[in-house]
Amino acid sequence: MGKQDINKYKNIWVFAEQRHGKLMPVVVELVGEGRKLAKERNVELNAVLLGENIEEMTKELIAYGVQNVYTADHELLKNYTTDGYTKIISEAIHEYKPEIMLIGATHIGRDLAPRIASRVDTGLTADCTKLEIDPEDGKIKQTRPAFGGNIMATIVCPENRPQMSTVRPGVMDKADVDNSRKGNIVPLNFSIKKEDIRTEVLEIVKSDKEIVSLIDANFIISGGLGLQSPDGFDLLKQLAEKLDGVIGSSRAAVDKGWIDHSHQVGQTGVTVKPNIYFACGISGAIQHLAGMNQSDIIIAINKDPNAPIFSVADYGIVGDLFEVVPQIISQLDSVRG
Ligand SMILES: Cc1cc2nc3c(=O)[nH]c(=O)nc-3n(C[C@H](O)[C@H](O)[C@H](O)COP(=O)(O)OP(=O)(O)OC[C@H]3O[C@@H](n4cnc5c(N)ncnc54)[C@H](O)[C@@H]3O)c2cc1C
Repeated sequence: MGKQDINKYKNIWVFAEQRHGKLMPVVVELVGEGRKLAKERNVELNAVLLGENIEEMTKELIAYGVQNVYTADHELLKNYTTDGYTKIISEAIHEYKPEIMLIGATHIGRDLAPRIASRVDTGLTADCTKLEIDPEDGKIKQTRPAFGGNIMATIVCPENRPQMSTVRPGVMDKADVDNSRKGNIVPLNFSIKKEDIRTEVLEIVKSDKEIVSLIDANFIISGGLGLQSPDGFDLLKQLAEKLDGVIGSSRAAVDKGWIDHSHQVGQTGVTVKPNIYFACGISGAIQHLAGMNQSDIIIAINKDPNAPIFSVADYGIVGDLFEVVPQIISQLDSVRG
């Protein structure tokens, strides 16, 4: 990597990923986290937003607390392409020199971030779950699970800028909305031609699978191998319906084909932080805990009193889930009348 004058770099940027003209939920989390970091660094929190007809989204970003929204509005930027987005964002980084750049670790973010990092000659940490400013030198400490989640690695980028991270969706606290906030919209000076983009989007097909929104759920009712068979999830669905909750699962249950991968919680699934997480017949392997141990309240139901899930549970019930879950359901019914 070439030597940079890192003192020229200032402020924190988030990539405001949009799809079909809507900001991705992770953007609100990046803004929440970015504002905390910006406060500690005493700098601005800015966003970069590419798309077509993006005005509404700029207003939303400002309401979340972004100070400057750098925008590129063009029909060729309507849908994400690696070439188009990399070109414009890399040029913007050269021009405005942010010291930190946060990108959601979505499929798009994971495609985009390494391309930008190599274009602007800097370091990138993928899939971070914790970010902190080092009070000694002001650099960002980026923590992520490594080696299958068995160690947490904390990584710094001492000599190159921006310090780039992709951040796991669902981990950081969301920014609050305040429509009275003021901010600036700064159109980027860019040019883009069809020839700049080597990929052509022919069609975007939305999966017709039931959309599972574990990340936004207040109640998650998760099941593992203790369910014995796919039918076990029917019991959990009854509890989920009572609570307006969403069904989660361990990877073991997904591997068995009992439920779709979109329900999987954990290191290779989704990271969640609901008000209440029910772990039913889940042993609590470290890779599962990595995805749910930040939940406000964890209720574990397991036959084995030594199951590691009890080490993170706020309430533990040692028993057969096929007896315990129906009792919880009938108690809920009687409380609610
Ligand atoms: C690189 C890597 C990534 C991984 N990523 C993930 C991930 O993202 N998410 C994930 O979950 N796992 C992940 N795993 C797998 C993980 O290590 C475990 O294998 C998995 O979480 C175990 O699932 P389980 O708890 O459902 O099954 P088990 O470990 O088999 O546990 C079943 C539990 O059910 C209990 N039980 C049985 N019958 C009943 C009953 N009738 N009532 C109550 N309790 C009962 C048992 O006591 C036991 O504790 C990953 C592994 C690796 C190596």
